[in-house]
Amino acid sequence: MTDTQPRPTTTDAGIPVASDEHSLTVGPNGPILLQDHYLIEQMAQFNRERIAERQPHAKGGGAFGRFEVTNDVSAYTKAAVFQPGAKTDMLIRFSTVAGERGSPDTWRDPRGFAVKFYTSEGNYDMVGNNTPVFFVRDPMKFQHFIRSQKRRADTNLRDHDMQWDFWTLSPESAHQVTWLMGDRGIPKTWRNMNGYSSHTYMWVNAQGERFWVKYHFKTDQGIDFLTQDEADRLAGADGDYHQRDLYNAIEGGDYPSWTLYMQIMPFEDAKTYRFNPFDLTKVWPHSDYPLIEVGRMTLDRTPTDYHTEIEQAAFEPNNLVPGIGPSPDKMLLARVFSYADAHRARLGVNYKQIPVNAAKVPVHSYSKDGAMRVEKVSDPVYAPNSYGGPQADTARYGESAVWYTDGEMVRTAYTLREQDDDWGQAGTMVREVLNDEQRSRLVSNVAGHLSKGVSEPILQRAFEYWRNIDKDLGDRIVDAVRNGG
Ligand code: NDP
Repeated sequence: MTDTQPRPTTTDAGIPVASDEHSLTVGPNGPILLQDHYLIEQMAQFNRERIAERQPHAKGGGAFGRFEVTNDVSAYTKAAVFQPGAKTDMLIRFSTVAGERGSPDTWRDPRGFAVKFYTSEGNYDMVGNNTPVFFVRDPMKFQHFIRSQKRRADTNLRDHDMQWDFWTLSPESAHQVTWLMGDRGIPKTWRNMNGYSSHTYMWVNAQGERFWVKYHFKTDQGIDFLTQDEADRLAGADGDYHQRDLYNAIEGGDYPSWTLYMQIMPFEDAKTYRFNPFDLTKVWPHSDYPLIEVGRMTLDRTPTDYHTEIEQAAFEPNNLVPGIGPSPDKMLLARVFSYADAHRARLGVNYKQIPVNAAKVPVHSYSKDGAMRVEKVSDPVYAPNSYGGPQADTARYGESAVWYTDGEMVRTAYTLREQDDDWGQAGTMVREVLNDEQRSRLVSNVAGHLSKGVSEPILQRAFEYWRNIDKDLGDRIVDAVRNGG
């Protein structure tokens, strides 16, 4: 065989096959024979190609790249990935939230911004969004929120009535809904949006000092958006518009990048800060905690097999490396369980052995067996043991991202701080961040949304919701819905 000859097709067992075109039959017109195991392999494999799609965030795309530290933040964290000069390979997946795997990229929705750093201390994941806040602050409501954004049981249709019913009965959603209905609710491309941790995390430095932090990945391409009309048109003309854009940009050598900045709060400030710093529906105003540059993420490689590298990619906020820990954000603490659980359900218990999810450092865990395990374990398979198995280095890696807590077991909301209310920060955005054109588009987007199937008394509640955010804006929305603006 020369290099110019095609490679012979084989079965999955590597055996050369007789034909790519013809099944084995009794004579040219006769029945197909059961012993055509290659035909059967092709049919059986095809029938099993699809795996369960993600519950939320089913539609998405991703790319590989690297993260380079450009500033010295070692005073705040000892994590190797953020030490001066560090360069770390990484993977990112962008997504919509509510739509299914084939749904249009340009539906109004937050976008997932999930990153995996293949660090020298194991994989570090941050499962962020392109928004700094979220719709709910207690994980008990998360499942209900997602169901309200997906499809009704009877019609199997998405339903604005259901969405506004949930939102207006959950006033903590006001900040995120205001953000969603504004320009940033439909980014022009994935390259033209920011990524935020949204959650507060903890950083710990080499001396054991602790800080509360929020991550802001700011796009170097500039923020840009699609109007509702542009997005609606694209949903029909090119449902994969965002995925195509990312692929074409990277393949064309136009590598998108984001600069990572942190907001860093001294540990003790959290006790008295005017907003609950762990409430996922709130931001920390920049004037209180200015952005500190950390480094740059650049994407320069597209996947060559979407299924193995993106569909099977598993991001989990419990992947936290030394020097980084969770905070008392209830949503984060629940996600620390639920993401890994979702991967076990969708991909199987050994999903971390799929190459895209595998650490690039040696793994010495005591996990063994289970379906589809491919990495061999060796004895001893238990700890403690007398046979030289791995031992936790508690002196070096003992829990350091810790906080003190005490109290009765309760089921209640967070204790309110001085400025904790559901409407305040949303109102600030409307009045102090948006300009006149942005406010007008917000009115038009909300009125358009409310005019599609929202019934009484939910419509009336929606009007009050917007008047609570901002009286003038609410009045304009009522006018636009009742009188066409
Ligand atoms: P700043 O004026 O310092 O920041 C306002 C921020 O709003 C900008 O930095 C930008 O975030 C973001 N923004 C700008 N235009 C839009 C838009 N059309 N839609 C959504 N967000 C936009 O004020 P504060 O930090 O005091 O925050 C004021 C309000 O701004 C908050 O109540 C919140 O609603 C909103 N905001 C605040 C953020 C924060 O982390 N402090 C982040 C995003 C929004 P960016 O620089 O990240 O692009």
